[in-house]
Amino acid sequence: MTDSDNPVCRTTCPYCGVGCGVVAPGRSLSAGALVAGDQDHPANYGRLCVKGASLHETTAVDGHMMYPRLHGRRVTWERALDEVAGAIRASVDAHGPESVAFYLSGQLLTEDYYVANKLAKGFIGTPHVDTNSRLCMASAVAAHKRAFGEDVVPGCYEDLELADLLVLTGSNAAWNHPVLYQRMKAAGRPGRRVVVIDPRRTATAELADLHLALRPGSDAILFNGLLVWLADTGALDQDYVRNHCRGLGEAMASARVSGFAPSKVADLCDLPEQDVVRFYRWFAENPRTVTAFSQGVNQSSTGTDKANAIINCHLATGRVGKPGASPFSLTGQPNAMGGREVGGLANTLAAHLDYDTPGGPEQVAEFWGTGQIPPGPGLKAVELFRAVSEGRIKVLWIMGTNPAVSLPDSGLVRQALKACPVVIASDCIALTDTNALADILLPAQGWGEKDGTVTNSERRISRQRRFLPAVGEARADWWMLAEVGRLLGHGDAFAWPDVASVFREHAQLSAIAGSTGRQFSLSALAGISDEGYEALEPVQWPVTTDYPHGRARLFGDGRFSTPDGKACLVPIEGRLPEAEPDLRWPMIVNTGRIRDQWHTMTRTARSSRLVQHRQEPFIDLHPEDARRYGLSPGDLARLEGPGSMGGYVGKVRSEPGQRPGEVFVPIHWNRQFTPAGLASDLIRPVTDPVSGQPESKYGVVHLTRI
Ligand code: SF4
Repeated sequence: MTDSDNPVCRTTCPYCGVGCGVVAPGRSLSAGALVAGDQDHPANYGRLCVKGASLHETTAVDGHMMYPRLHGRRVTWERALDEVAGAIRASVDAHGPESVAFYLSGQLLTEDYYVANKLAKGFIGTPHVDTNSRLCMASAVAAHKRAFGEDVVPGCYEDLELADLLVLTGSNAAWNHPVLYQRMKAAGRPGRRVVVIDPRRTATAELADLHLALRPGSDAILFNGLLVWLADTGALDQDYVRNHCRGLGEAMASARVSGFAPSKVADLCDLPEQDVVRFYRWFAENPRTVTAFSQGVNQSSTGTDKANAIINCHLATGRVGKPGASPFSLTGQPNAMGGREVGGLANTLAAHLDYDTPGGPEQVAEFWGTGQIPPGPGLKAVELFRAVSEGRIKVLWIMGTNPAVSLPDSGLVRQALKACPVVIASDCIALTDTNALADILLPAQGWGEKDGTVTNSERRISRQRRFLPAVGEARADWWMLAEVGRLLGHGDAFAWPDVASVFREHAQLSAIAGSTGRQFSLSALAGISDEGYEALEPVQWPVTTDYPHGRARLFGDGRFSTPDGKACLVPIEGRLPEAEPDLRWPMIVNTGRIRDQWHTMTRTARSSRLVQHRQEPFIDLHPEDARRYGLSPGDLARLEGPGSMGGYVGKVRSEPGQRPGEVFVPIHWNRQFTPAGLASDLIRPVTDPVSGQPESKYGVVHLTRI
């Protein structure tokens, strides 16, 4: 076979928000083909981390969901989709459209997300469309909207290299965004400094000139103190603030409430005062500062406030959207950003329009040709599953995610799924904790089989391309949603012949958002040909006639997406998590990812290479705590928290990088591997009041030796 018979396929890694370009050997090779980094992709320039480099080990047919099933029995697609459409129709007729809900995933492609959103909000009439991205970056979304008037990441990856001061807060990028971390590391030079803010001494802290191992949850206090320091040392950019911002006075007054002198900050954050001062000095001295934040900030009952406390400091110094100077949200999933673009979050409408955007619902309804747009936002993930448990949701369609493992209070989520009259699960993996509780299973195409686009953390849209034949009867997610739309009597609105047609419609709708003064627009791609879509090169939105090749940075001119064009500093009250350790629950638990696994391991556990890194669930605790509990490395221990339904069992690891009194457990193991428990069983469904994001980084537990 010649190269021209078997050209390479340029696609995108399906794991983290870095969005690395991947070269697969060719369209006609079967599963098991080796992959390599795409030298020409601007996210990774040929690099891949071990997860990306092991992708070929995860595409095996074994374990793939092959056929539609109804209550465990194999059925035809026609029968399965009739059942889905019939259940939705019956539920809407009997209980109203809000009895139907969708729970989507950052693993879906943007086109899948677009069709799900259109079907739910436009034609079923339910606002209850949320996504597992709620667990990932909803707080960053809310903070961007409060500060900038739109959910926009102003900078680009190059800024993390250009910055003279790089602040990484709540981010173990070395493990969770490895290729971007490699870029940050390679950018090291004399005079460049890195500050890592994280209660744990993670692999990322190895890059740090200063590691601030702060008290869990105290980030907003630290950044409020920074705002006060900047003001008191004359380091604010007064001209920038006067011309481009609102709210400095209120934000400053709020930050000063507790008299935020460094000594007080140090006390509240449990940090050495000289380290706090050193961080503040470095921030004041370096105009080119990037603060990158991730789940350690977002997954909190005050995640939105924490993110705004960070953004406040950047606005007050005029460091937004400039080379090497910006706040920067690192998204967790490969397409968390794409879902945001189409309205995949329950509180958004579509195409960066909100329910309260003047004229927004009317414009979207007219574009879709429907009169069904719901009057207001829907239920966010934790509320959504609460509604399922209370019987308010009768039909729930879960796409490409495993909430029975990943949501807080996972025992209750499983009970809710058991009690829900109709649970539909579409997935490429056959056996998951969630799929085991579904009434109707729909086989979805996985990575390598499906075709579409994703958007990474720097707003870069890349193509995921098909290079493998579909396994069994697996179909694209957008296709099954469109078929249901057709069966519900809306054939004209769901008549796309292919995925390129879906993308064109998405780009056309985005032009409406662009015309309302928002940055998000793909108007220059609204007429893209099939060939153009196939050949689409990675590009950072907006993509308009003014910027046909996209834009690396936004808001650099100081003009924001608010009605008056000014950004908003938000008054922040630095609050610690409500639950405090006590005699009954003496330890604080933190949860997170490990280097070589992804989410609930349904795909990455298929790679023998990836399971080598950490082979079993574990509990990291400080050596002092290990001694106190009489535990040695390798001993089994159990963690239980208030409301636990089984607890979490893992092997003890003595880890000096832990703060005493605090333990860390990984999120990945599911009931297929560890019937003894899940990390999510330790986390209460406490959420941020603005973003609805759960506090997955904080719980209180007690520990017992087994
Ligand atoms: Fe994939 Fe992220 Fe690794 Fe890149 S850094 S190869 S996107 S997992």
